[in-house]
Amino acid sequence: MTQRVFNFNAGPAALPLEVLKEVQGEMLNYRETGMSILEISHRSKAYEAINREAEANLKELLGLGDNYKVLFLQGGASTQFAMIPMNFLPADRTADYILTGAWSEKALKEAKLFGNTHVAATTAEGNYKRIPHLDEIQLSDNPAYVHITSNNTIFGTQWKKLPSFGQVPLIADMSSDILNQPFAAEDFSLIYAGAQKNLGPSGVTVVIARKELLENNPKDIPTMMRYETHAKNDSLYNTPPAFSVYVLNLVLQWVKSQGGLVGMKKHNEEKAALIYNAIDQSGGFYTGHAQEDSRSLMNITFRLPSEELEKAFASQAEKAGLIGLKGHRSVGGLRASTYNAMTLEGCQALQQFMLQFQQNNG
Ligand SMILES: *Cc1c(COP(=O)(O)O)cnc(C)c1O
Repeated sequence: MTQRVFNFNAGPAALPLEVLKEVQGEMLNYRETGMSILEISHRSKAYEAINREAEANLKELLGLGDNYKVLFLQGGASTQFAMIPMNFLPADRTADYILTGAWSEKALKEAKLFGNTHVAATTAEGNYKRIPHLDEIQLSDNPAYVHITSNNTIFGTQWKKLPSFGQVPLIADMSSDILNQPFAAEDFSLIYAGAQKNLGPSGVTVVIARKELLENNPKDIPTMMRYETHAKNDSLYNTPPAFSVYVLNLVLQWVKSQGGLVGMKKHNEEKAALIYNAIDQSGGFYTGHAQEDSRSLMNITFRLPSEELEKAFASQAEKAGLIGLKGHRSVGGLRASTYNAMTLEGCQALQQFMLQFQQNNG
């Protein structure tokens, strides 16, 4: 490849070109420190400023106040699957999980290691084509928390209206759609996301939580697994993934410059509509995996009439500079990940490619 491609990978995923250029511009000498951001001490004033700014930018974008804290952790969203029950599921309580895909199943599996769990709803039947209706959700008596996955990266479904269960703490894995559109962040007690899909590079996991959850965590779990440890030390208990947090902060600034979450919603709806239209107007040549009322703005999953055609589609697309379209093995077919940083041009190019491919093979 002699030029940049359109990157439809599910994660790590595309970053805004403006952000990459900024990183390139200050790579050798970060803000007159005479050092690269890759070399800088995490105890330096320069890094402390990045750490502070990233938290402030995230809270500003989500409209959250002083009762929330942002942590920058490591271990990916997958470590959060275990940290959440370790910290918030006492032995005599039950945690409720709503299963909408492979990532919710993995979160549940970890919780089972620590206490009682209850599946409050599942759409496994039909291979996770949809999000459950509110009246299908049956909570246990007085659950310690309810866990949801806001966007199902593999199956291409997304909650259109995020649920809320009154006083019951609501926890969400938003790894693949955080900041994709406005939502009532204050309905959540804790939100977590691996950065590498919609927020930045891999290596940092964002946790946004109500402050009262970050106190009095159990004393019999490892220090690094206690949220309190990281909250008390402003995510600087041990060496943080400084470069990843720095790029994350640039991405947050970029989202702000694009009109914040309102701007992202408009941008993402416009992009996704191009591809969903190509599916819907194909007369059955392309079929979406997700039920229409559960379609994701971030991961668009679709099939072709045969696996042979699907293979041909992915390899010809790659030659045309459209990368990362092969679907996950549990769904098959194709998946276009259209996170915030994916451009309108990229989605237009994919739509054109889909029309052309159908003409040649339909
Ligand atoms: C990718 C993904 C994960 C796993 O993230 P890691 O940071 O690799 O652990 C978890 N949940 C969802 C919804 C994802 O898309």
